[in-house]
Amino acid sequence: MTKEIYLTGDRPTGKLHIGHYVGSLKNRVVMQNSGDYDPFVMIADTQAFTDNARDPKKIRDSLTEVALDYLAVGLDPKKTTIFVQSQIKGLFELTSYYMNLVTVARLQRNPTVKAEIQQKSFGESIPAGFFTYPVSQAADITIFRAKKVPVGDDQEPMIEQTRELVRSFNNAYHTDILVEPEGVFPEKGLGRIPGIDGDAKMSKSLGNAIYLSDDADTVAAKVKQMYTDPKHVAVDDPGHVEGNVVFTYLDIFDPDTKQVADLKAQYTHGGLGDMKLKKYLIEVLESELKPIRERRMAFAQDIPAILQMLKDGSDHANKIAEATMKEVRQAIGVNYFAGLK
Ligand code: ATP
Ligand code: MG
Repeated sequence: MTKEIYLTGDRPTGKLHIGHYVGSLKNRVVMQNSGDYDPFVMIADTQAFTDNARDPKKIRDSLTEVALDYLAVGLDPKKTTIFVQSQIKGLFELTSYYMNLVTVARLQRNPTVKAEIQQKSFGESIPAGFFTYPVSQAADITIFRAKKVPVGDDQEPMIEQTRELVRSFNNAYHTDILVEPEGVFPEKGLGRIPGIDGDAKMSKSLGNAIYLSDDADTVAAKVKQMYTDPKHVAVDDPGHVEGNVVFTYLDIFDPDTKQVADLKAQYTHGGLGDMKLKKYLIEVLESELKPIRERRMAFAQDIPAILQMLKDGSDHANKIAEATMKEVRQAIGVNYFAGLK
């Protein structure tokens, strides 16, 4: 039986953070090790250019950082094809064809793109590539005929858009070569981890993240800055658990423990200081992050090996993508020179 392909990825706009870890990376490793899938993980550099076109150095530097994060959490290039988006030339071609099967009005309705445009303060100067990135994402997914796409909550509109494009393509060219994917979303609460500032989403681009590569002191310093309850001033004041980022993180990294239940009761009642609470979170995070950090440091000793791994993965991914593109060209009828020398 052929294994189901899953595809997912990350933009090389910085190092990966604990939001990526619980919301996506952890599950990828479980799916990889289950043996039930043929996993593809893409470093989405082309997509990173849509809002970082004038900062190619950031993208280039982040490429190896993201690859190190992958290896540190347990993605294994023997089981998962880890590749680089820009190296798959068929993606540019497929994106071009898709672009004509979607309307501007449809793209304008994408709530994630809308929110990101606000967040990035583009004003009137929205790069066309940014506005249309859901179309290139549809190409990413479908060129590999991925059935499953494990992603965070913000990606749901992209999956819907992809399904629509598959239907439009198959319909327009009277074919069934493309496959409608399904999103695989994290358990409730894990699909969008808030930032340390209490912002709705921890994000590489917002400067509110705890990175997998942060050293122990940096993690501790970030937890100490963390948003809690602004009304909880004196230790004896009753505090709020709801909306308090420290408790949000405890629920994620130390779920359903008696310790956390006791801390919540004490905080609500009054008598638990923010510092004591934060010290507990620092310990919890450290026990999860320390082994990841150590593995990462070991892999970082040999960057040429990381680049070789990405090249090998990209070569393999290109073969799969080219096979789909051959069928795509044939379906559209642009295979004019088939059979000619
Ligand atoms: P950027 O700010 O550059 O967009 P990002 O932090 O949003 O970076 P992406 O590379 O865009 O990261 O997203 C990679 C994957 O991680 C996606 O599946 C996304 O849904 C998921 N993800 C991103 N941020 C979070 C978060 N805070 N909590 C859970 N999942 C997340
Ligand atoms: Mg993002």
